[in-house]
Amino acid sequence: MRLVLPGTSASTGMALGRARLVQPSRYAVDTRPLAEDEIEGELERLHRALDTARQELRELRGKLHGALAREVNEFIDAHSLLLDDAELLRGLDDMVRVGHYRPGAALKKQRDRLAAVFEAMDDPYLRSRKEDIDQVIARVISALERQTSAEERKLAARVGEILVADTIAPADMAHLAGNGLLGVVASSGSAYSHSAILARSLGLPMLVGTRDALSSIHDDDLILLDTERGETVVHPTAQDLARYRAWQRQSAQEGRRLASLANAPTRTRDGFDIHLYANAESATDVAQARARGADGVGLYRTEFLFLRQKGLPSEDEQFTAYRDLVLGMGGLPVTIRTLDLGADKADAAGLVLRGEDNPALGVRGVRLSLRYPAVFTTQIRAILRAACYGPVRVLVPMVTQPDELIAVRTLFKLARQELEQEHVDLPEKLPLGAMIEVPAAAINVRALLDHADFLAIGTNDLAQYVLAADRGNDALDNIYTPLQPALLRLVAHVISCGRRAGKPVSLCGEIGGDVGLTALLVALGLTEFSMHPSQLLHVRDRLASLDRAALRRLAPRLLRAHTHEDVETLLAHLT
Ligand code: PEP
Ligand code: MG
Repeated sequence: MRLVLPGTSASTGMALGRARLVQPSRYAVDTRPLAEDEIEGELERLHRALDTARQELRELRGKLHGALAREVNEFIDAHSLLLDDAELLRGLDDMVRVGHYRPGAALKKQRDRLAAVFEAMDDPYLRSRKEDIDQVIARVISALERQTSAEERKLAARVGEILVADTIAPADMAHLAGNGLLGVVASSGSAYSHSAILARSLGLPMLVGTRDALSSIHDDDLILLDTERGETVVHPTAQDLARYRAWQRQSAQEGRRLASLANAPTRTRDGFDIHLYANAESATDVAQARARGADGVGLYRTEFLFLRQKGLPSEDEQFTAYRDLVLGMGGLPVTIRTLDLGADKADAAGLVLRGEDNPALGVRGVRLSLRYPAVFTTQIRAILRAACYGPVRVLVPMVTQPDELIAVRTLFKLARQELEQEHVDLPEKLPLGAMIEVPAAAINVRALLDHADFLAIGTNDLAQYVLAADRGNDALDNIYTPLQPALLRLVAHVISCGRRAGKPVSLCGEIGGDVGLTALLVALGLTEFSMHPSQLLHVRDRLASLDRAALRRLAPRLLRAHTHEDVETLLAHLT
C-alpha cells in the first residue's frame, strides 16, 4: 500500500532503494540492578565498549581524506572528547559501582541527563548538539551489545540502501556514503545538525523530522526519498517511479558534464589560470559550488536571511547560517557580503526608510547598515564568530567613498574587542573588501584601494547607475546592456587599478556567468569570476577554448569602441 511520510529536506536530491532500519532498540536496556559480584565484570565490559567506540572513531578518521576529512574530523574530535569526558566517565562508573546500574542502563541515564541540558538551551545550534550525545552513547551501547551477542554489526557495504534511523552520526554517514548508501531518512534531527551539514556536502539526499519513519517503514521496503516534495514514499507506484526516472535522467545528463569538468582546472587554452567562485545563498548552491569545483564563494548575499522572515534574524541565527556556509565550503574561502537592503530589495525587517523619492539613489546597502549600528554590529559579531570555522572575507555593498569603509572597519574592531572580552574565539585576520557598483567608487577606485583588501565589481548595479537605467525596467533593454563602452571602460579601469595595487579583483554581477561574455571579460583582464553555481562548468568550458594572450591584445580596440553595437561586432569576431 502506497504511503507518504512527510519530512524536512536537510540535503537535496532523490533516492530509490531498500529501507535499512536502525532501530533505537539500543535504549531498550535491562534495568534490573546488578548483583554485588557482577559489578567488576560489568565495569570491565563498559570500559571495553568505550575503548571499542574510541577505536572505531580513530579508524574512521584514518579512512577519510581531503576536504571531507577536514569536516568530519571536527565531528570526530567532538565525539572523541565526549568519550574522554572525565565527568561523564566518573558518572558512569559511579552508577555501576554505587547505583548497581547495568552499563546499558547507566549509559541511557547519562544520555537522558545530558540531552535534557542541551535541549533546555536557547541557541538552536547548541540544542542540535544533543544529537552528538545521542550518537556517541549509541556507539558505546552498540559496542556493548556486540560484546554480548558476539555479532559484529558492521557498518559495511550499504549498496542500494536508504538508511532509516532516529539520527545518524556524521562519521558513520561519511563512511556509509563511501560504501553505496543512497540517502537518509531520519525521524528526528534538524537541518542544523552536523549530519545534515555533512549530507549536503556529500551530496547525499536526507530528510529529517520524518516522525513515523521507524514505525511505518520496514526493513527491505522499497522507498522513494524525495527532498523536493519533502516526503518519503513507501511502496512507490508506477507514477512515482516515472517521476524518479525523469529526475534521474536530468541528473545523469548533468552528471556527465560534471564528470568531465568538475575536477578540471580552470585554465585558458594558452594555459592561464582563472579563478571561478560561486554566488551562493543556499545549501543547494554550496553543494553545487563544491560539486562543480568552485574555488570558493565569491558572493554570499546576507539579505536573504533578513528577507526570509519577519523581524531581524538574531546573532545566533546569523552565526549558524554563516557557519554552515563556511563549513559547507570545506576550507575554501567564503565572501560574506554585509546587509544590502533597500531599493529593489524589499525589507521584511522594517529598516528601510519610507517615502524616499529615489530609493535606488537613497539609503541602501552600507549606507543603511551604518545608520543602524546596533543591527549592523549584530551581523558583524555573527560574521566574526563564523570566521573561526574557515577562511572568510567580508564584502561591503554600495560603497561610494572611503569613509564608509573606514567606519565599517571601526565597527569590526569594536565588535572584536567586545567578543575578546567575552572570551569568544576569533579569526586572526578578516579581509575587508568593497563592492564596486557605484560609479564614483569605480572612477575613484584608487582611494578605496587605500582601505580595501580586495574588490568585487557588481555590474548589475554599476550598469544601472552608469547608464541611469533601472536594472528592473525592461523598457530600457536597449540601454541597459553590459556591452556599453562606458561600463566596459570602468570595469577595465577597476581591474587594472586593483592589479597595480596588488589586490584581488573579482566580478560577481550576472555577466560573470554569461558564457557569451566570458571572452570579453578575459580581454578586459578579469581573472576572478563569481557566478551562480549552475554556470561554473559552462564558463570553465568556455575559458578552455579561449586564447587569453590574443584577447588581451584586443582590449584597446574594445575600449575604444564608441557604441555598444560596435562592441557587439567586435565580440562576434572574438567568439
Ligand atoms: C551587483 O550589483 O552586481 C551585485 C552582484 O549585487 P546585487 O545583484 O545583489 O545587487
Ligand atoms: Mg548590487
